[in-house]
Amino acid sequence: MIDSHVHIVGNGSSGSGCRIQHSGAHKLLAHYMLHQLGLPQSSLRGDLDNIFVNRLVHFVESSELEQVVILAHEKVYDESGRVIDEEKSLYVPNDYIFRLAEKHNCFLPAVSIHPARADAIDELERCAEKGAVLMKCLPNCQNINCSDPRYKPFWSKMAELKLPLLAHTGGEHTVKQYNAKYADPRTLRSPLECGVTVIAAHCGTKSGVVDPEYFDVFCDLLQEHPNLYGDISGLQLPVRSAYLPRCTEGLVAERILHGSDFPVPSQPIWSWLRGHISAKTFAEARSIKNPLQRDVFVKRAIGIPDDAFTRAKQILRIPEQ
Ligand SMILES: [Zn+2]
Repeated sequence: MIDSHVHIVGNGSSGSGCRIQHSGAHKLLAHYMLHQLGLPQSSLRGDLDNIFVNRLVHFVESSELEQVVILAHEKVYDESGRVIDEEKSLYVPNDYIFRLAEKHNCFLPAVSIHPARADAIDELERCAEKGAVLMKCLPNCQNINCSDPRYKPFWSKMAELKLPLLAHTGGEHTVKQYNAKYADPRTLRSPLECGVTVIAAHCGTKSGVVDPEYFDVFCDLLQEHPNLYGDISGLQLPVRSAYLPRCTEGLVAERILHGSDFPVPSQPIWSWLRGHISAKTFAEARSIKNPLQRDVFVKRAIGIPDDAFTRAKQILRIPEQ
């Protein structure tokens, strides 16, 4: 079993080069996530790099999961390839992800590369060589217009390297948004047409009440593009939880991959309040302190098919062992 959507968070304390976002609402969110993980608030200023990784390894090893895909997080670039808001933005370098995956067998490395970078294609090749299992980006938060024709050679290179694209879809509130329109899964048509296997993170579901809803758009795109998949990460949250039962049937059920979106909290209360799980199942879920395992438990109880938990093995660029 593989969890194909796990974030690495760090403050650079181990020399990782990581940065966290410190401003306003994002700071509150960071504190809330630490609370969920049972970590002291002082971790933000302490050795967050190692505290976070050790906690994650512990959760993976004490769950049913064999491996988790750990995600790098690219800087924000403008269309001309210049970094913007460098000091204010979240950052997790590709090389840090590779170092962690070398050290821990339960980690599969996923890189993040902005296609506007002057060295974007070189970096793709370098990362594929080093064993990247996918390339992750957040088009709306990293300012990536996937439909921009200038990025076609980049998508074609990904297709050639058989490196799947995991792209965030739907609204986002944990990091700053640059262009809300890029949350629309239809903007992924260009990489899909270039032959890239694309995984729409969160299946286009909305995160905030007022965000536009793209789940039905995602379902229509599945019909058109056999190389499109979706992940069910972050779906145990107040608004997104509405869509989990719809992921248990039809074409969606055949094309989803399990992901947690750790350390984004997995809150079974929403599935219970919506009547998707019984009071007994909810009580059992609450007793599971490991958030990765709790996420698996609730999704299974809702009826997410077993294949969704193992499909990553066929879709991602995982070397034969
Ligand atoms: Zn995520």
